[in-house]
Amino acid sequence: MRGKRVWVAGHRGMAGSAIVRRLEREDCEILTVGRDRVDLRRQEAVEGWMADARPDAVFLAAATVGGIHANDTRPAEFLYDNLVIETNIIHGAWKAEVGKLVFLGSSCIYPRMAPQPMAEDQLLTGPLEPTNQWYAVAKIAGIKLCQAYRRQYGCDFISAMPTNLFGAGDNFDLQQGHVAAALLAKIHRAKVTGADTVELWGTGTPLREFLFVDDLADALVFLAERYSGEEHVNVGTGVETSIRGLAELLAEVIGWRGEFRFDTSRPDGTPRKLMDVSRLTAMGWTAPTSLRDGFAQAYRWYVDHLDSGA
Ligand code: GDP
Repeated sequence: MRGKRVWVAGHRGMAGSAIVRRLEREDCEILTVGRDRVDLRRQEAVEGWMADARPDAVFLAAATVGGIHANDTRPAEFLYDNLVIETNIIHGAWKAEVGKLVFLGSSCIYPRMAPQPMAEDQLLTGPLEPTNQWYAVAKIAGIKLCQAYRRQYGCDFISAMPTNLFGAGDNFDLQQGHVAAALLAKIHRAKVTGADTVELWGTGTPLREFLFVDDLADALVFLAERYSGEEHVNVGTGVETSIRGLAELLAEVIGWRGEFRFDTSRPDGTPRKLMDVSRLTAMGWTAPTSLRDGFAQAYRWYVDHLDSGA
């Protein structure tokens, strides 16, 4: 990244803002552009901005994202927004002769019943989890775009697939957020109001893997500098936790004692979603932050930003 002009697309989101924090420790020039100036769903606006800004490298962290309920109830937005944002930026990066592009996907690209842990070669081997298929199809298309532009035009565009993320800047909305942020907000509210029960969605038995977003940003800079290949790379911890286990850990971090109830009319989603991170580990990167430390930092951020509507 040294001496480079680096565009972080999606710099206001959780992943994008962590990438900006990480790049601030590098000797590079960070480029960002607000939604008010460039709507990433408009091709002319994106290409015009890229032609002017002339980035050497791009981190494509811009996306319409959300938890299981958001995905399940806003299918058109999740499919359209994500397809068009990644298409505009990847095509724009080719036209603007960007030297390196890192596309961010998600662990939901893998089949619902993929063997666990899920290795990169499990892609497109079976049907997707229905609750997040819209987002998954868009992200699979993003991987294929990077591969296609590499094959046809020789572009050095790579893809990284992070597992479930959490940290500063997450969406703590109880309906739209992912499970870690939603539970953090719910348990905090129970602590503040003195409630002795918190309701979780589903059965509490599904297994998920959680990665601290600042660790993700570190892995992405690592990959940008050291990896150049067609195949996408999983980014995770290789450690899984049940939803109930997650809730218990968060209750400890927050300092709340009480009971969890389960609303089984809500979906569980995919039963298990654990990444095989051996490719990334073999390259020399492992996640440095423990779950407990990461959640403690995320909780501190949440409490500090409560007044600003986090
Ligand atoms: P997913 O990993 O794509 O399925 O999406 P999420 O990050 O939203 O995690 C969903 C899992 O957490 C499902 O098993 C839900 O049933 C469970 N869960 C339990 N309580 C909540 C909650 O309050 N919000 C969310 N989003 N999920 C919850």
